[in-house]
Amino acid sequence: MKVTDHIKNAKGKTLFSFEIVPPVKGKNIQELYNNIDPLMEFKPPFIDVTTSREEYVYVEKQGLLEKQMTRMRPGTVGICASIKHKYDVDTVPHVLCGGFTREETEYVLVDCHYLGIDNIMALRGDAMKDQKYFVPTKGGHTYATELVEQIQSLNKGDYLHGTIESGNCSDFCIGVAGYPEKHLEAPSLKSDLKRLKEKVEAGADYVVTQMFFDNQKYFAFVKAARDMGIEVPIIPGIKPIAVKRHLQILPQVFRIDLPQDLIDAVDDCEDNKAVRQVGVEWAIQQSKELKEAGVPVLHYYSMGKSDNIHAVAKAMF
Ligand code: FAD
Repeated sequence: MKVTDHIKNAKGKTLFSFEIVPPVKGKNIQELYNNIDPLMEFKPPFIDVTTSREEYVYVEKQGLLEKQMTRMRPGTVGICASIKHKYDVDTVPHVLCGGFTREETEYVLVDCHYLGIDNIMALRGDAMKDQKYFVPTKGGHTYATELVEQIQSLNKGDYLHGTIESGNCSDFCIGVAGYPEKHLEAPSLKSDLKRLKEKVEAGADYVVTQMFFDNQKYFAFVKAARDMGIEVPIIPGIKPIAVKRHLQILPQVFRIDLPQDLIDAVDDCEDNKAVRQVGVEWAIQQSKELKEAGVPVLHYYSMGKSDNIHAVAKAMF
């Protein structure tokens, strides 16, 4: 079922969902299940599965190091299919512009259609690790808007080589990313919002936000989006702080601000067990206020072990 239909059917009740990251290749999928299992008691209507683009690794060959391109966390669509089958839950594969040609994207989308996947999260992706700026892949898309357009074309039976009239078109519901504190490359929040509006006009059905730790940023973002005429659901993304290093990493990687009270509370912690508890309590407070404000879904970034998401969900659902 489409994410937007889940929201409609909930009739104003806030839903629970979360995002998982595929394991590094070679690892057992059971590890992933072990993290998902405890969260299923909160009945998520959908689970997102991220995609990682290609990266360079150095492989030793006859005493010399050779640079090789690889995908360390493959399997997004396969994982979506296995979770859907195992737990009878909708899954949302993340599909990226970066690292994929249009042709490869069409291949992935056709697979998703055959597997009965109804939702796609359409994203540009970041620059490769050794690049300063995002460089579009040859034959791929430059912005997420173009990816949304490709998915919408497929929904009409328009494939890259031409139209197929078969009565068996996909009907993907499309999610896109939104940034309450603006995307790091955007010159201003207003211009980033204009780009978000373009994604919605191209056919995006809902927005999931980047993580934020100050709810006022989310509320202001939603208001600015509504004032600009963006009417689709805007789902808040929440991440509980889990280790002290997050104080440096999260602002650096995602260009987001952390409230001083949260920084002070984490600074006062003696170890990461205590940090994890602070992160859970902060996320519960955030979640309570967002739920009271009537958000459609509380969407949690699990990024590894899910015990903290479980603790937050237990207090909320
Ligand atoms: P876009 O919407 O294309 O925007 C990128 C930048 O370009 C913005 O600054 C925007 O303002 C600007 N822009 C857009 N259109 C134009 C235009 N026509 N002209 C000029 N500027 C323009 N990354 C992953 O690698 N894998 C994932 O699974 C993943 N999941 C994510 C899930 C969520 C909910 C979020 C919020 C992010 C996720 N990301 C993921 C990160 C995302 O790929 C990066 O933030 C990326 O840098 C931007 O992606 P986007 O889809 O927002 O890009």
